Parts: sequence; structure tokens; C-alpha cells
Amino acid sequence: GSTRRHASQISHLSGSSLKELNTSVNALVYIASDGFPVTGGLPLSGFSVAVKDNICTSSMPTTCSSAMLLDFISPFDATVVKLLQDGGAYISGKTNCDEFGMGSLNMYSVHGPVINPYQPPDSSVSWTDRERRSAGGSSGGSAAAVAVGMCDAALATDTGGSIRLPASYCGVVGLKPSYGLVSRWGVVSYADSLDCVGVMARTVRDVRKTYNVLSVYDTKDPTAARPATRLRAAEERDKHQEYSLDSPLSGLRIGVPQEYFPSDMDSHIVQPVRRVLETLRARGASIVPVSLPSTRYALSAYYVISSAEASSNLARYDGIEYGTYIDPPPGTDKTKTAKVYAHSRSAGFGKEVQKRILLGTYALTADAFDNYFLQAQRVRKLICADFDRVFCVPNVLNSTSQSNPDFTGVHVLLHPSAIRTAPRLPSSTDADHDLGAYVQDVLTVPASLAGLPAISVPAGHGMDAWPVGISIVGQWGCDEMVMDVAEICE
Ligand code: GLN
Repeated sequence: GSTRRHASQISHLSGSSLKELNTSVNALVYIASDGFPVTGGLPLSGFSVAVKDNICTSSMPTTCSSAMLLDFISPFDATVVKLLQDGGAYISGKTNCDEFGMGSLNMYSVHGPVINPYQPPDSSVSWTDRERRSAGGSSGGSAAAVAVGMCDAALATDTGGSIRLPASYCGVVGLKPSYGLVSRWGVVSYADSLDCVGVMARTVRDVRKTYNVLSVYDTKDPTAARPATRLRAAEERDKHQEYSLDSPLSGLRIGVPQEYFPSDMDSHIVQPVRRVLETLRARGASIVPVSLPSTRYALSAYYVISSAEASSNLARYDGIEYGTYIDPPPGTDKTKTAKVYAHSRSAGFGKEVQKRILLGTYALTADAFDNYFLQAQRVRKLICADFDRVFCVPNVLNSTSQSNPDFTGVHVLLHPSAIRTAPRLPSSTDADHDLGAYVQDVLTVPASLAGLPAISVPAGHGMDAWPVGISIVGQWGCDEMVMDVAEICE
């Protein structure tokens, strides 16, 4: 199937045309078979939404792209799925992802990699001959499905960048909301203190429309921000919203963190970012250089914390209580349950997930705890303090947060979403499969550690003609502000 059809014309495709389109992209791992509902008058009526495969749906499997859950069907719908349906949306299918959300390139999937559907504008190369690039991960399926028009929007999760990175690589919009504003009930946990459910779509307007239906307090999620906290955040935001969104953008202060232009960033990322900043300045916004000095420790702290939490969360998949049971080889003493568990776990988890479990278990052992886990928690505090120092809006979750009296804080931060455009997928003959996946997240993990809202929007192309994304980050609870600024940059 041609992927060049205009996206808006194909978001209501029938199951069989979706299937055909999907063969080249591999974005969907399950396609709904019921027809498009005819309900009208609801906020999301006529809107089709695909759902990342680590979010529970009662009418479709939820595999988390893992052999461990290949035949799992949840007995209930996640709160976010229920909210979409109540809002009139049609759930069109489940999207491919890295196993349990662990990865940056959507290559660690039992369903195979997602192929980035982007086509450089003047490319005369046919679909089958063109360059196969990664769609980004872990929510590569959600990004690709949106990019190619298989749905109007997609739900995804973002623990350390899994929405923003694929959005950047595929040229779509991706929002990671403030931690705790969207319910995680029914979302398969990777790292609870970081996991957020968010939205991807082709425009900020569609992201906002979907987010508005999702950002409600859910008593079933113990980590959800309570109504009083939401209210306080909204009041603080309103107090500092002293700018105009019309031309000129007088009063709007945008911070550019100097640490977000590392030396290993591809040089052609800088040009599109500079262009956006120049446009904003020309329209009256103040561009303010700021410093977030703890940024360089963020990536290491993130991988220690996320792996530690993952090792604990994934302990439940023993093949007996949860997950696929794989019969151990004949002769195994089945009264030794640890051996029986180990067999299912070795067969059910992919190598990246196993690596994280081992790393996380190690970080939590008595010998390593102080040097790794506690140290990472300290870095996390420093990262939060860095952000609180530069924003003009105070952090309602942290009453001790200090703003700098000699500095008029900024409303939002702006930086590149990634250090490069989509990397090429290795062919089966490539010896080196290591694409430096961990480094891809270097610009997205700080906002995750601090629980802040962040959105990636397309900002033109690199010299290779592939999409470049910029991220807008705001204080906790300033999701609307972040979307407002993103809409100006679009
Ligand atoms: N790439 C990061 C990881 O593998 C982030 C993934 C995510 O946000 N789910 O942990």
C-alpha cells in the first residue's frame, strides 16, 4: 500500500485496508474488528485512537510486545481506555512498542521492529527500496500509526522519553503530561515513579482534545494528583500567565538550557531549533539562556532508578501467577519452584528486559544500594531543584523549592527533543546492533525524573531531510501552557 495518501483521508480505514497499510510499517499489533461507531455529540465522536500495547484493553490482547504476555487478554479496560470510549472515541487497535516499554528504537519487540513511515519530501525512491529507519521507541508503533494516518491519535506511555523520542523521529506531536495527572490504572508498570500516559497526534490541537478527556482524577490510581493539588497548580499557573499568545507574544519568556546542546549532538539538529527560536523572538517572546547544571547526571540516575523499579515490577511474571508458563526440560525437580520460575522467565523475557532486571536487582542489593540507588535518588532531587530554580511558576508539589530572587523565571523551556534524526535500522547482516540506544534519551529523561510536562513538536528537517523535533517543558501542572507554546511553534 502507498503511504503517501493524505493522512486525514485514511484515519477511518476499514480493518482490511489498515492491515494492508500495516504490512510495511508494523505499527499495529492488533486491529479492532468491530466497525466505527456512529455516536455523535461527544468530545471525541468520530475520532479513532490506537492504544499502546502495554495499556489494558478487555476486547483486545495486551502483550507488552513480550513473549511473556503473548496470549494475555485483560479482564478489564484501563481507566484511560474507558475515558476515551466514554468520550466517544473508537479504539482502532493496539500499537507495537519495545518490550514492557524498555528501549528507544522499537527494536526489542516480539512483533518485530517498527519501520519509520516518513518519506523525505523529494524522495523518488519507492517504499520497498527506501532507507529503513527506526520509528523511535518505546512507543514507535503509536508514532508511526499517527504519522501514516492509521488513527487520529494514539495513546502511549513515557517513562524516560518513549513518547517524545518517537514523535521527534516520525515528525508528529507527542505529549508527556505532568506525572500524576493522567491515570495509570490498567497500565502495565515499567517504573512506577516515572511512568506517564500521554498522547500522540498530528497536531497540537488533536493532542489537546484527547488530553482534555484523559486528565481527570482517578481514585483507582494511588499516585494520581488529588483534585486540591490540581487546583493549586492551576491557580499558580494563572497567576504567572502574564503573557499574550497573540502576536506579539509580549511577556512570554522562553528558557534555552545550555546543557541541552551536547557535543555528540548532530550538527544539523541545531539549525531547525535556531530557526524556531528566531521566529519566536521576532514575534516578541524573550529568549533567555538558562543553566540546568545537574543535567549531565540525569541519564545514569534514570537508568539506575528505572531498572530498580522494573526489577521489582517484573518479579510477578513467574509463569504461574502471571505470564506464560513454559514447561522446564524433563528431569527438572518441579518442587524447586525457583527453577520452574527461572525457566519461564528466561524463555519469556527478551534480552534487553533481562539486562534491566539484572541491573536493577544489583542496584538494590545491600552492597550496591548506597552507591547506586541512593545516589541516583539524590541526583533526582538536584534535577528537580534545577528546574524549580528557572521556572517563574512555583512547584506546588515541593513547598521547599527555591526560586532565584535575582532572576525573573521563564514560563517554559525549549530544547531539541533528540540529539539526532531517526537512526537507520540495522539490516539482518549487520554485525553491530548497538545503536547507542541509551544515549538517545539524554534530552528527555530530566523532565521524566522531575515529573514535568513536556511536548515534542515537529520543527522542520535535518540536512538529511528527516524530521527534527523540539521539546517544550513546563513546571508541574503547566500542561496547558506547554501546549499553548507548542501550538505557536507548530
Ligand atoms: N528508552 C528509555 C528506556 O528504555 C525510555 C523508555 C520509556 O520511556 N518507556 O528506559
